[in-house]
Amino acid sequence: MMKLAVSWEVKRITTKFEFKIARSAESFYDVVIVKITDGEQAGYGEAAPSRRYHDSTTQVTTLLENLTNEIISLPVQDAELRQAKIEALFSDSFSLQAALDMAFWDLHAKQLGKPLHQVLGAEIEMPISSYTIGISDLDMIKPKLDEAISYPILKIKLGSPQDEEIMGVIRQHTDKILRVDANEGWKTVDEAKRRIEWLAGQNVEFIEQPMPAMQLDDIAKLHDWSPLPIVADENSVRPEDVPGLSGVYHGINIKLMKCGGLTNALKMVALAQKHHLDLMMGCMVETSVAISAAAQIGSFMRWLDLDGNVLIANDPFIGVGNVAGKLILSNEPGIGVRRR
Ligand SMILES: [Mg+2]
Repeated sequence: MMKLAVSWEVKRITTKFEFKIARSAESFYDVVIVKITDGEQAGYGEAAPSRRYHDSTTQVTTLLENLTNEIISLPVQDAELRQAKIEALFSDSFSLQAALDMAFWDLHAKQLGKPLHQVLGAEIEMPISSYTIGISDLDMIKPKLDEAISYPILKIKLGSPQDEEIMGVIRQHTDKILRVDANEGWKTVDEAKRRIEWLAGQNVEFIEQPMPAMQLDDIAKLHDWSPLPIVADENSVRPEDVPGLSGVYHGINIKLMKCGGLTNALKMVALAQKHHLDLMMGCMVETSVAISAAAQIGSFMRWLDLDGNVLIANDPFIGVGNVAGKLILSNEPGIGVRRR
């Protein structure tokens, strides 16, 4: 087999609507598409860096430039060893860890001639994914709901002073199941309790990250009291975070861009099962590369929020399908993506 080669390109992806959450608002994102080839097959990965985790596109591309030789020496077949080396080399960039892990898994499965979900022991059937409605001017909510008309489950970003108005407008227009993500926006136990109690009567399925990750002791006070499941996102970053969330949260949201890829995501799945935590898989604003990679293990989850590629207007890749929130995995080898 030929020596490996790695190449990458920065892609600016634009969202259909400005994407606003409790701490930021963006209308474009720069992601880095990584390609690893063995001379015959190519594996694709994607880094969608997040400032919340001290990561950036510049950091990702600088690391790729400086450590090219180390990357092409990584083992294709041994994911555990590879991941240990990736974490040692790229400790500062979770998104680059994810991009490399994905590209290697894609290449590995292509070498085997199998879809990656088969290699990982996952099923093709998985839960329906939600579609995210960001925080917006109240008069933008209706157009966003119209855009989301075919999706049966919506994820609503709250955690701003406008929570009541936003929910009010949404409930004027739809009675769909809602999942609420406060993105650390509620700052006291009293405020969180008031909000959760109010949301429990409005066909809300669960609450994601109600309070700042730093306030884990406060969040623990919601665990036994809460009428709705509480799911960790900013508190559920890496596999080592999971045991400490038992008795604090009811579930965890796994994202490849936080945990460092599929190898670590599978570790988080096993740890969550051991500690009786429910499983959710989420994403950043990402192209079909990262979403197709995540969907490979979607069948292990109770809840899916893999909508990054349908929120963007200029996806450079075609991969997993999304029909009204139902993700359709391809039977092509690897993660099943190709350039549009
Ligand atoms: Mg979240």
